[in-house]
Amino acid sequence: MPFSALGLSGPLLRAVAARGYSTPTPIQSAAIPAILRGGDVWASARTGSGKTAAFVLPILQLLGDEPRRRGRFVRALILVPTRELAAQIGEAIRHYGSHLPHPLKALSIFGGVSINPQMLALGGGADILVATPGRLLDLMERNALSLAMVSALVLDEADRLLEAGFSEELGRILSQVPARRQSLLFSATFPPAVQALATGLLRDPVRLEAPSAPGSQPDIVQRVIEVDAPRRAQLLRHLIQENQWTGVLVFVATKYATEHVAQKLRQAGIVATALHGDLSQGARSQALADFKAGHVQVLLATDLAARGIDILRLPVVVNFDLPRSAVDYTHRIGRTGRAGETGLAISFVSAATHAHFLLIEKRHNLALPREEIRGFEPVETEVPAPPTGGIKGRRKSKKDKLREAMSMTKRHLTSPLRRRS
Ligand code: AMP
Repeated sequence: MPFSALGLSGPLLRAVAARGYSTPTPIQSAAIPAILRGGDVWASARTGSGKTAAFVLPILQLLGDEPRRRGRFVRALILVPTRELAAQIGEAIRHYGSHLPHPLKALSIFGGVSINPQMLALGGGADILVATPGRLLDLMERNALSLAMVSALVLDEADRLLEAGFSEELGRILSQVPARRQSLLFSATFPPAVQALATGLLRDPVRLEAPSAPGSQPDIVQRVIEVDAPRRAQLLRHLIQENQWTGVLVFVATKYATEHVAQKLRQAGIVATALHGDLSQGARSQALADFKAGHVQVLLATDLAARGIDILRLPVVVNFDLPRSAVDYTHRIGRTGRAGETGLAISFVSAATHAHFLLIEKRHNLALPREEIRGFEPVETEVPAPPTGGIKGRRKSKKDKLREAMSMTKRHLTSPLRRRS
């Protein structure tokens, strides 16, 4: 089905063509007509499926039909979990709305930057506001805007919004939005908390399902490499150099590790930079912009910094440290293989983490072959858990040893031999 069959106006079709899209993605084909009809939509759409355009295009069309009221009113509110996603959606709105005869005012607001320019920009209201919940509440408390006229509400990456601990903030925001409105909920995964949110938020929604499990993403090749934990940085360097990867997003567990591994790669002449929550907003945006522009070859990121970001032509994602959950795994590998491009997702697995990766595979019904790279064959074996239940693979602490000794004594005292004597 071509874009022209979806009911979009001429200026929006021209904007889509100018972006170089020839055909709508499945989620766009399904969601755009449903949203234009005015009903609520509950869509499961994985990252990279083209979901931004799926809600932005029809919202632009619906808003364009009616003029903005005077005052601090917002007409469409898009809630997102991260600053990067807010900025990215704001950018998409500007592109898609660039051919409209009456330009719409769209703003992205998020924390980590000064609030004053945002308050100034909100003067006279906005047609579309893309916001992270915390900053939105700050601005509402300062009377910088009113949600009383919101006619369209979007929750993008709803699973992430809830995971990021925004549920209380969401409640406060939703209480300010009129009951008569169109609500759209997009989520890559549907844990029970999202289902509860959807039930409370949506009225008689159209349910749209796009494939979300990694197994159903043929455009992402998933590989697992077994390596000893201390040799991962060396292996990463080797793989980057050997395969001449141009853009690699590497997920690590801690802020410190992003900096540490980035430094190791830089020592080897690789242009690498770190992205994590301790950086100033300016530094985060710069790191991301440099990576997107291809000035930086490798971006080392924590989960916090990497949520929802859209990087076109990102060929490789590496799980240097494994994600905590199977859901996070989906999100991480979804950074590559976007919009029909092929991608490669590599996970490093060591003796201490192989059991955890098995669980991730089980949740996704996967059984990926394990690989070893010549010169990096693992020698570590899994350290069996001590009888007291210490953490696998960890050196025993003083406390562990004490607990172990106590339990040995106890076992000794209660052994049948003892009792008989
Ligand atoms: P999203 O899932 O909204 O983050 O979009 C993922 C990527 O797909 C973005 O870079 C979009 O610019 C791109 N995209 C969106 N719609 C289409 C389309 N119909 N054809 C090709 N690329 C698209």
